[in-house]
Amino acid sequence: MGDVWEAVKAVGTGFATTFMHLFRKPITEQYPEYKRMMPVRARARIILTRDPDGGERCVACSLCSAVCPVSCISMEAGEREEDGRRYARWFRINFARCIYCGLCEEACPTSAIQLTPEYEFAKRDILDFVYEKEDLLVDHQGKDPEYNYYRHAGIVTGVGGKGEHIGESEPVNIRSNLP
Ligand code: SF4
Ligand code: SF4
Repeated sequence: MGDVWEAVKAVGTGFATTFMHLFRKPITEQYPEYKRMMPVRARARIILTRDPDGGERCVACSLCSAVCPVSCISMEAGEREEDGRRYARWFRINFARCIYCGLCEEACPTSAIQLTPEYEFAKRDILDFVYEKEDLLVDHQGKDPEYNYYRHAGIVTGVGGKGEHIGESEPVNIRSNLP
């Protein structure tokens, strides 16, 4: 008898909820004429930002790629001849695989990769979801207007190679550990 009463109560609760909704004002948003303002921290389209001096923030460290749970980021690192600064020769995100978890942004040491609230980039062809560096790189600093990685980390100064500065040890030859 107890089970029957529980079942009747569950059905009654369901009908009561449905009945109450009959008298509520419907919430219909006329998208796309009306577009809801997304919170600043909403996670949608990804961009690659620049530092306040206009330089590319990405140093092609691959941390974002390593942390990405669906492996949708790939890149190739290059090194500038004039100052030894690393950059991404190419940088690719497959948005068809991205789950917008934000882990890449969390992992990035230079604040280069950022998720934005822009959610309107549906495509018909799945291959169009593969974004190259030129599609990702923007001309602003995103959420981090002040941050410049190279104000905190050094660049090659031209006064000597690795291990040649005063009191600096020779770089460790990791191959010496190999059998
Ligand atoms: S948001 Fe998540 S799934 Fe998308 S690229 Fe970044 S780490 Fe990968
Ligand atoms: S976007 Fe950030 S984490 Fe990814 S390679 Fe560039 S600097 Fe490293």
